[in-house]
Amino acid sequence: MLELNDTALLRAHCLIGGQWVDADDGATTAVTNPADGATIAHVPCCGAAEAERAIAAADTAFQTWRDTTAAERAHILRRWHDLVLASQDDLAAIMTAEQGKPLAEAKGEIVYAAAYIEWFAEEARRAYGEVIPSPARDRQLVVTREPVGVCAAITPWNFPAAMVTRKVAPALAAGCTIVLKPAQQTPLSALALADLAVRAGVPSGVFSVVTGKASAIGRVMSASPVVRKLSFTGSTPVGIHLMRECADTVKKLSLELGGNAPFIVFDDADIDAAVAGAIASKYRNAGQTCVCSNRFLVQDGIYDRFAAKLAAAVGLLKVGNGRDEGVTVGPLIDDGAVAKVEELVGDALGKGARVLAGGRRHTLGRNWYEPTVLADVTQAMAVAREEIFGPVAPLFRFKDEAEAVALANDTEYGLAAYFYTTDHARVWRVSRRLEYGMVGVNTGLISTEVAPFGGMKSSGIGREGSRHGLEDYMELKYIAMGGL
Ligand code: ADP
Repeated sequence: MLELNDTALLRAHCLIGGQWVDADDGATTAVTNPADGATIAHVPCCGAAEAERAIAAADTAFQTWRDTTAAERAHILRRWHDLVLASQDDLAAIMTAEQGKPLAEAKGEIVYAAAYIEWFAEEARRAYGEVIPSPARDRQLVVTREPVGVCAAITPWNFPAAMVTRKVAPALAAGCTIVLKPAQQTPLSALALADLAVRAGVPSGVFSVVTGKASAIGRVMSASPVVRKLSFTGSTPVGIHLMRECADTVKKLSLELGGNAPFIVFDDADIDAAVAGAIASKYRNAGQTCVCSNRFLVQDGIYDRFAAKLAAAVGLLKVGNGRDEGVTVGPLIDDGAVAKVEELVGDALGKGARVLAGGRRHTLGRNWYEPTVLADVTQAMAVAREEIFGPVAPLFRFKDEAEAVALANDTEYGLAAYFYTTDHARVWRVSRRLEYGMVGVNTGLISTEVAPFGGMKSSGIGREGSRHGLEDYMELKYIAMGGL
């Protein structure tokens, strides 16, 4: 049983137009703990009708929310931020229960999620317009920024809180209203955040949460002419599908999709720093983040030493139930995720890779996989192309910088890339050539609310966080005043 200080945070209803409601037909879905399969709660299994009502409520609410001042909105967001931080322990406990990540990581995510709310509360007041020097004497040319309108958001299970605030906070700050469909695996974190938003004073209909049937809700969101923007974080195939569905209403889109992050270790790297960065970027959230290193490209001269040190460090990771003290790697989200990891490792071993650590399912249960390091991995193996989304580090070998850059860019994805070197000139050369939206140089952790998060190529469209993240929820309006 989940023990919370504030039991009201465990919401088992959707928030539609300011009301906590059931699905129209009373249907529910169980939310289970990936660590032990226990049912934590049941949430409404809503569909098209409830999504339509939430959109209609958002449309009504937009008519007044758009006219609030940036300072009024910032004030409410600031209160929401404070309430989220005050409930950090409960929100983290809910997250670990429904998602599996270690409690310390869940607490860290709550701080990170709150940081987006604070950041956009501040940025809302700086959405300046422009006055353009006019080409004609009798004209004044002005550009203003306006909220896009009603927005929709679809979020994944790997960051059940941060992906919600990263979309909802800029929308609200810009003066938009928003309807959220959280991942079916992790709706409780989203509902708890919504509860705190209501307590903070977010008016009815400004922020709704609809849990339930992904494709039915997604179809209504994409097809609705009222919804002017859709923001999605998830897999590339679903992103492509939503992009197609949004074409008929020419919606604005933000897509944060899959990645295939390279982690390059050059001969001149600080090897201990590289190992520490590798552990952070690979095994955080059991390897289930879209910016997790997917391919370790290691130069010939340092390969064996790096491999040995990484395998030793991986041996020190503590696998277990995320709620237990000292655990650093929790379960994967479900048995399908484990099956995929198993298949990728099997393919690599069948084609000549060697296991340096792990390499099998963990004895803890069916959602667990051992933190793994594979050596002698080649381009012929499936791990070179596919997102692993699990605790497996495949080590590829390269000879020189040109080969490393070519290998790194040899993918349809372009989200995050990392490299370790102590050569200053190389830092700039390689940073420039990597076809990625985010590059970590001598660091394995790049996410922060103050910087633009997003990808190139098939990894998506748009940026979240930073001042650009607010921009994505605003339209430019050019006003030409003639006859002056
Ligand atoms: P993952 O593999 O991380 O679960 P998905 O892309 O399947 O990635 O899921 C990310 C989010 O997209 C979740 O909220 C999920 O419910 C939602 N989703 C999945 N399929 C659809 C769809 N056809 N339409 C709308 N949303 C969808």
